[in-house]
Amino acid sequence: MIAASPMASTGGCVDTASGARTNLPVIRERGQHEVFCGLTGIVWLHRKMQDAFFMVVGSRTCAHLVQSAAGVMIFAEPRFATAILSERDLAGLADANEELDRCVTTLLQRRPDINALFLVGSCPSEVIKLDLHRAAERLNERFMPQVQVLNYSGSGIETTFTQGEDACLRCLVPIMPATTGTVAELLIVGTLPDMVEDQFARLFAQMGVGPVHFFPPRRARQLPPIGANTRVLLAQPFLGETARALMARGGTLLAAPYPFGVCGTTDWLQAVADAYDVSAETFAKVTAAPSDRAHAAVSRYKPWLEGKRVFFFPDSQLEIPLARFLHEECGVELVEVGTPYLDRLMIETELARLPATAQVSEGQDVEKQLDRCRTSRPDLTVCGLGLANPLESEGLRTKWSIELVFSPVHGYEQAGDLAELFARPLDRASRLAV
Ligand code: SF4
Repeated sequence: MIAASPMASTGGCVDTASGARTNLPVIRERGQHEVFCGLTGIVWLHRKMQDAFFMVVGSRTCAHLVQSAAGVMIFAEPRFATAILSERDLAGLADANEELDRCVTTLLQRRPDINALFLVGSCPSEVIKLDLHRAAERLNERFMPQVQVLNYSGSGIETTFTQGEDACLRCLVPIMPATTGTVAELLIVGTLPDMVEDQFARLFAQMGVGPVHFFPPRRARQLPPIGANTRVLLAQPFLGETARALMARGGTLLAAPYPFGVCGTTDWLQAVADAYDVSAETFAKVTAAPSDRAHAAVSRYKPWLEGKRVFFFPDSQLEIPLARFLHEECGVELVEVGTPYLDRLMIETELARLPATAQVSEGQDVEKQLDRCRTSRPDLTVCGLGLANPLESEGLRTKWSIELVFSPVHGYEQAGDLAELFARPLDRASRLAV
């Protein structure tokens, strides 16, 4: 926690419609990029689905990545592992499918608590040659109904960082049951910490909205239903493939910004209120107290953030919603907002709220982007771990973007923590300044 100075609540959300942009001159780059691969999603997915196991089929590099990103679990039974291709596999002396079946059998015999097993593909060419979809089908013949085996790719060639979650959820959509009734059902899509999920569930209940389902669920085999009566609301901006698959099964996507900060959360809830004809009076009654609390919490960190210039490197795909939050609620000036890819279906609502002065960039040519960052000398640079230390050594203050993915930052109760995550490096810099 940084020491917070008191500041009056700012009241309602800022209306940025007048300064909004609709036709952005976007820089598009396709050069060398510094982004984690989709295996990283296992870190939060295995915590969410508590009966699932993630088996990466990959190399020692994959094992090191997942292990160091997730931390070593010494006292608990882990729920992820890597089936590492050995010299024998690479030399073609072993049948990789037989080896995989052997690994899975040993695992499932040892761990009867596993109900769903995800085989996660990776980059090495030997893995690409393996048909994991077929392998999952073959293993299902043996292990269903006790264990359902699924597969998706977390390969760095096909996915960046958060796209791993998209690929994982996408592979679950075909096995979601169909809805049986005609009453509208709300489906919140995207991994949220249980505590945040409970907060949202309470707000929906107070608004009289229900039934509400969360996807992914806490138990991987208890999948929510999907059908023509499902209203789909995204909690994360990187789930384009999943959203399209849910729409193909009849779901209606609610257009909304993402629940980051007070305004994002209010507008996200408002999209539900509109879809369910919740009265303005009820909506105001339900949201007034938590939104006032959140305004007060965010305001405490405004003195560090107001007027500061922030540069986002592309990493987690959260950049545009977070930039919108910093601009609207913290008075931050946005220099560049980089995003790994721009999926307009996912991000249009957010994009329109960025100020006309913010340079948006899609993809990356890291050296060119570093040059732009050095030239503009922002007060704070939000970037991946690999870029942070070199930039710090050049006197630039940085924030690790991975922290923004691993911390609970959605909703009213976390809005102050979100502002604090950005304020902390600036506070530290001001304390260390001679
Ligand atoms: Fe590296 Fe590819 Fe494995 Fe990711 S999937 S750790 S990018 S080898």
